[in-house]
Amino acid sequence: MSVRELVVLGTASQAPTRRRNHNGYLLRWDGEGLLFDPGEGTQRQMLQAGVSANDITRLCLTHFHGDHCLGVPGVVQRLSLDRVAHPVRAHYPASGRHFFERLRHASAFHEIAELCEEPIEREGWIAAGTFGELRARRLDHRVETFGYRLVEPDGRRMVPELLDRFGISGPRVGLLQRNGTLDVDGRTVGLGEVSEPRRGQRAAFIMDTRLCDAVHELADGADLLVIEATFLAEDGSLADEYAHLTAAQAGRVAAECGVRKLVLTHFSQRYPHPERFRDEAAEQFGGEIVLAEDLMRVPVPTRR
Ligand SMILES: [Zn+2]
Repeated sequence: MSVRELVVLGTASQAPTRRRNHNGYLLRWDGEGLLFDPGEGTQRQMLQAGVSANDITRLCLTHFHGDHCLGVPGVVQRLSLDRVAHPVRAHYPASGRHFFERLRHASAFHEIAELCEEPIEREGWIAAGTFGELRARRLDHRVETFGYRLVEPDGRRMVPELLDRFGISGPRVGLLQRNGTLDVDGRTVGLGEVSEPRRGQRAAFIMDTRLCDAVHELADGADLLVIEATFLAEDGSLADEYAHLTAAQAGRVAAECGVRKLVLTHFSQRYPHPERFRDEAAEQFGGEIVLAEDLMRVPVPTRR
């Protein structure tokens, strides 16, 4: 069975706390495992969360501040220690190539796993696979930062009542799906007659940024939006100064973009009561809000 879920490995910005590790998020999407922004301690968090090095197929970094990338050395070496047999692709802003080079070769190890670097030179399409397309947009932070958007192509869903009407069942359903048509008692039945459009699912991952057009484009119609909410509204000027979002801004983005499930994370350690992030986002967004906690699993909403 295919699994689509976010495994939260860490949720702290800048400095970890007793309860929050630095960032780290694994998006399981059928056979793919996209590891976003592994901060310090990600390798151990993976163990706690039941994520193995084998689950990782892509490493996706938004930018090269330490809370988003200091876990790369441990994760990269673990791929080789565990002899991960499939190639792992690494996406990161091309302007930070020298940082990735250092992280990748931070200390001596026997390199066995295949890590293919695919630095992001420009916005737009960056990869395609069975998951659909992975796209990136440049955000507005103090160093070059990219947000990510995963888009599954639209498809079609078979309608049992329509299949019944034509007396199509069993293996003949698969035959019709593969061929697009099926001969039923001398009449050709097309796929469109027994199915309806099925919208592809979308997930967006938006870390450190001020509000900008790219935030909206990445989040547009997302079933799952994982977005930073570093500050509360009372510190809105700090958010702007340090190029971050408030929970209210994240909530407004979710509302304006028709998001289904909003995951808030990357919290500043200055706030002892995280519920306030939910309250401020909920004033803007009426949909489901998840306050990310370390080791939490967040399912991608089921198809409508
Ligand atoms: Zn950060």
